Amino acid sequence: MPPARTYTFRPVPLCEMCGSANRRLLGLRLSASQGLRPRRAEGIAVPVKRCQCGMVYADPLPVPAAMADHYDLPPEEYWTNQAPWDESYFAREIADAKRLLGFTPGMTALDIGAGRGLAMKSLAHAGFDAFGIEPSAPFRDRAIADGADPARLTLAALEDAAFAPASFDFITFGAVLEHLYSPGLALEKALGWLRPGGVIQAEVPSSRWLISRLVNAFFRLAGTTYVTNISPMHAPFHLYEFSLAAFEAKGRELGFTVAEHRFMACDPVHVPRLLKPLAARVMDATKTGMQLTVWLRK
Ligand SMILES: [Zn+2]
Repeated sequence: MPPARTYTFRPVPLCEMCGSANRRLLGLRLSASQGLRPRRAEGIAVPVKRCQCGMVYADPLPVPAAMADHYDLPPEEYWTNQAPWDESYFAREIADAKRLLGFTPGMTALDIGAGRGLAMKSLAHAGFDAFGIEPSAPFRDRAIADGADPARLTLAALEDAAFAPASFDFITFGAVLEHLYSPGLALEKALGWLRPGGVIQAEVPSSRWLISRLVNAFFRLAGTTYVTNISPMHAPFHLYEFSLAAFEAKGRELGFTVAEHRFMACDPVHVPRLLKPLAARVMDATKTGMQLTVWLRK
């Protein structure tokens, strides 16, 4: 059983990204891992909905009484098998950013949710003037112990951070938007810090993930209404799955375009090892990989 927590349940009348009320019920999501015998699982469940734009979210949205109930973990516990930094970390994203920006040395970059500071280190190594914000003190302490400049890595949640308007060429959200109650407001705030012509990169869980669909089909066959999408009340505390159309809709509202996007298969942990290469090929061919990366141009 998960630790006891107190939640309030906040109704979500409209989609966070496209503003529509046109959504359908996918099923129920438990407050704990559902395992493969969901009829025996216990906990409280929230309805999971899919918007017309493809966004997947809980409605009502469970909000913990204290955010620390979800995130006050030592870094090692949250990222159990993260390798030490090397040059290849974030290299593909940096190469894409340089191409999209027409890079010149000294361009400014901001990593939102800098974690242990690995992407900041790679950005600085690649010639960016790199800054970061990180809401977790243990993560920031760890980044500083590993060499991050405390003056460039601010301890702050996105909601509380302040930078001059149009002060960054490149802003990256790595594994952040799916954890925020309002990813739309987060994008709006970041866009204000971005100079016109600059780019935002965000990697998020995709609502088209093939493995989710297969697990949901299994749950249906097992006679339950559970779904495996998102995890609003247990680790890793994902509140949203995203679609390309959701970013396009938000862009029309806020004034950015989706310059590029990519679906990535990633390592399908639920798939038997022998089938992994095949599963990855199918997901690449059908754009049903686990993660979606978008490049947003102001
Ligand atoms: Zn929507």
